Amino acid sequence: MSQKRCILDVDGTLFDFHTPLHQRLHELYDFPEMEATSWDWYKVWGITDKQFYKAVDDVHAQQMQYSPFSGALDLFLTLDRLGFEVFVASHRKPQSADLLATWLNANYLEPYSAVYTGPSKKQFFRTGDLLIDDAPHTIELGCDMGMDVVYLKCPWNKDLPGERVAELWHVIEYIKETYG
Ligand SMILES: [Mg+2]
Repeated sequence: MSQKRCILDVDGTLFDFHTPLHQRLHELYDFPEMEATSWDWYKVWGITDKQFYKAVDDVHAQQMQYSPFSGALDLFLTLDRLGFEVFVASHRKPQSADLLATWLNANYLEPYSAVYTGPSKKQFFRTGDLLIDDAPHTIELGCDMGMDVVYLKCPWNKDLPGERVAELWHVIEYIKETYG
């Protein structure tokens, strides 16, 4: 049997990505305060994908400023204790893996086997593996592939399959109950 693997997202999973993203959108485009009720909510305000990803890249460039969510450290320790190989996978610029790894290490978020940054984390998906990710299309793909999918409850991931929970502590409880 192959090693159990966890594909672990970063933005909105290990830290609060949306607060600095909203701030940056406001600074760049005078974007109003509004809840992100869908994955492409910014389009309602007329922001193009190019403009949006400029703000996303700017937020990622400041990665060292952000604190992980409460429970992030214990999530890594729990995954390790239960024998998971952890692939940290984030949809961001391919050239940003080193900065992301530096952030993980600075916050003691380890052990992990790989850090992937790029547009296609799905290349690592395997049936039966664990996926922790808040993005709707990623959740759906993981479920379709027969992965065990658990994610933090956000306004943009309502009414989806998988296990939707409020905090990382609940993710940890779910993993312990399922694999412990
Ligand atoms: Mg995410």
